[in-house]
Amino acid sequence: MVNIEFNNENIEKCQCPCCPVQGASKCAYEQLEKVQKINGMPNPEEVPGIYCISGKTTCEDFNQEGMCQCSKCELWKEYNLGAEEPGGYFCARGKSRPQK
Ligand code: SF4
Ligand code: SF4
Repeated sequence: MVNIEFNNENIEKCQCPCCPVQGASKCAYEQLEKVQKINGMPNPEEVPGIYCISGKTTCEDFNQEGMCQCSKCELWKEYNLGAEEPGGYFCARGKSRPQK
């Protein structure tokens, strides 16, 4: 089981903010605005990204026809997330977990 730490350094590596799946999401934009106002560490589910750790988004306006950008992420390479389930689209399919 990969154990990716939820910290600022890893949040900065996340490519979700540049992803077309959430690019036009008003909900993700509002989450981002909220998170920027928080002093200190937010809860993982408050961050519009890093879904490989936090699991599915609570937003309902993502466009799943866009191309997931996770394979461009350093964490993807570092933790070999392509070998785990669900292998991308964590915002829709849930957090990274071992293959069954
Ligand atoms: S998990 Fe993949 S599809 Fe979802 S927002 Fe992030 S990069 Fe895009
Ligand atoms: S693997 Fe995907 S969800 Fe996880 S931090 Fe990277 S871009 Fe974000």
